Amino acid sequence: MGLWAAVHAERRGLNTLLVDTGRLGSGASGGLLGALMPHMPDRWSEKKQFQFDALVSLEAEIAAIEDATGLSAGYRRSGRLIPLPKPHLRKIASGHSEDAELHWRAGERRFHWHVLDRPPGQGWIDAAAGESGFVHDTLAARVAPRLLIAALKAFLRKARHVRVLENTEVTELHPARGTAAIEGGVIAFSRCILAAGYRSFPFLEKLTPRLQKPLGQAVKGQAALLAADIDPGLPTIFRDGLYVVAHEGRHVAVGSTSENSFADPFSTDEQLDALIEAAREMVPALRDAPVIERWAGLRPKAIDRDPMVGAYPENHNLIALTGGFKVSFGLAHRLAEAAICIASDANTEFLLPESFAISSHIAVSSR
Ligand SMILES: Cc1cc2nc3c(=O)[nH]c(=O)nc-3n(C[C@H](O)[C@H](O)[C@H](O)COP(=O)(O)OP(=O)(O)OC[C@H]3O[C@@H](n4cnc5c(N)ncnc54)[C@H](O)[C@@H]3O)c2cc1C
Repeated sequence: MGLWAAVHAERRGLNTLLVDTGRLGSGASGGLLGALMPHMPDRWSEKKQFQFDALVSLEAEIAAIEDATGLSAGYRRSGRLIPLPKPHLRKIASGHSEDAELHWRAGERRFHWHVLDRPPGQGWIDAAAGESGFVHDTLAARVAPRLLIAALKAFLRKARHVRVLENTEVTELHPARGTAAIEGGVIAFSRCILAAGYRSFPFLEKLTPRLQKPLGQAVKGQAALLAADIDPGLPTIFRDGLYVVAHEGRHVAVGSTSENSFADPFSTDEQLDALIEAAREMVPALRDAPVIERWAGLRPKAIDRDPMVGAYPENHNLIALTGGFKVSFGLAHRLAEAAICIASDANTEFLLPESFAISSHIAVSSR
């Protein structure tokens, strides 16, 4: 989120310091999956419209970064496959197909929620996984998280308005004074965007005394990368929280666990083994594929589950940009643009859903 905010700051000519306690991209964003999954097309809402517009606009945003840097972000609108193991699921899916025809439109562009008897393409999901067929959605996409981070970093290396300070922890924030404490010093700011992932929540909680519950939490996720000779254009498979994502370079990512409590945030264990096993069962081509990396990270989940973006009610010079939870990659460019517009008193060309506002999250935490 912070990297995208810095990109928008650079484009708008705003003098900006990007501070990270580690190396840029070493938080939850430095993982393996990069699935860009739309919400279901039924029960349409402003939140679903926002995510749809973000998923459509990401394509051009990434192309602009790739053009500027000459680096690939491993982006492709390769779609999504959802196996339907029971007849009643097929009936529901057919209804969604009509919803998608109605809502998944952007100008001349149309995206679809096809319901098929057999999976498209060869050498991917076992046809037996979908006894009642398959959904093939053409809106979903994927990006290679580390390639995207590398491209955003390369963009910022050439920046004229953004400076980067790595390996520097912000230990305290004083929006009333307009200062941030770092080891051995103080940074003065006119506006501060707080995009510290799950670690944003304690900063905000410290500033907000009357909360009944925490503003957010860290949810652990584990994922793995396998090496397999797979067509990188194959759609992402999604079933009951299991993702199998084909990437360029003979890589297939498998994830993710969702753990509210954990002893070690960054270890991997038998819960990941079970996901890898399930992926191998569903995709015969992965049966003997070697695991080349196992990885765990902490997602930022805000109390109301939605992203948390906007000016802090008591001090408008502090702007939250966090809470992307499981869908950050598809939204980050838009949420970051909104945060930068707020920071520079500019209007956005789009509206943020009300439930994303930090005041809305504070209201839920205060009940
Ligand atoms: C296993 C797993 C799989 C996932 N799969 C997907 C997926 O397929 N699609 C998707 O959209 N999302 C996915 N996510 C979620 C996504 O990765 C996160 O929501 C997203 O990366 C959060 O981005 P962020 O910028 O808010 O946080 P982060 O990427 O964690 O960045 C926060 C940054 O703040 C820095 N920081 C923290 N505290 C301080 C401090 N005090 N001072 C200075 N710097 C600080 C950190 O070093 C870090 O660089 C997945 C997450 C996990 C764990």
